[in-house]
Amino acid sequence: PTNENLTDLIKCYNFAAIKHKNQRRKDLEATPYINHPIGVANILTEEGGIYDLDVIKAAVLHDTVEDTDTTFEEIEENFGPKVRSIVAEVTDDKNLSKMERKKQQIEHAKRSSFEAKLVKLGDKLYNLRDLDCQTPVGWTEERVEEYFIWAKQVIDQMRGTNLALEAKLDELFSKHILE
Ligand code: NDP
Ligand code: ZN
Repeated sequence: PTNENLTDLIKCYNFAAIKHKNQRRKDLEATPYINHPIGVANILTEEGGIYDLDVIKAAVLHDTVEDTDTTFEEIEENFGPKVRSIVAEVTDDKNLSKMERKKQQIEHAKRSSFEAKLVKLGDKLYNLRDLDCQTPVGWTEERVEEYFIWAKQVIDQMRGTNLALEAKLDELFSKHILE
């Protein structure tokens, strides 16, 4: 018997694993980077109750264009126009400075599609959990706390998207951001 959905999903994980194969996270153990997109997809299904396959595929692929040689054309050829458009929405413009990119994320969050907002919620929750557990190599405590403040500014633009994920984000915000 064939199962197209399963085959497509495994193809997607395999594509991301190959693209990110030489990358590591910024934690002390230099965890393989692929743990992050897989973990984001897992947050969406396990904690967000999200079963839209295009959203899950976009979560797995969400950092491929931003951080590797992957092109949007490649994403579309392999995974279709819907996945491409979600990935495009969550990809920062590399022509901008890091500061400008941070500002753009806040500005773009509100007018993003529902699907892109879900990927963003999972992405931020994963990264903030990392920062909650451990300060990345070379970061000061202050930089970590600034990251929480910025992340909250992004998430505040997308309220009402997924209450379960937002509640978990809010727990982390209240732990790290003193009002
Ligand atoms: P970065 O944007 O440089 O790094 C954060 C990103 O790294 C995350 O969004 C995540 O992105 C990825 N990442 C990889 N590993 C981890 C991990 N273990 N935990 C969390 N995230 C991880 O950081 P900043 O937001 O602080 O940088 C903003 C700008 O300010 C940069 O130009 C930076 O150089 C500069 N700067 C700021 C300082 C400060 O005190 N705030 C000090 C020095 C410089 P992804 O989901 O894509 O993997
Ligand atoms: Zn990410």
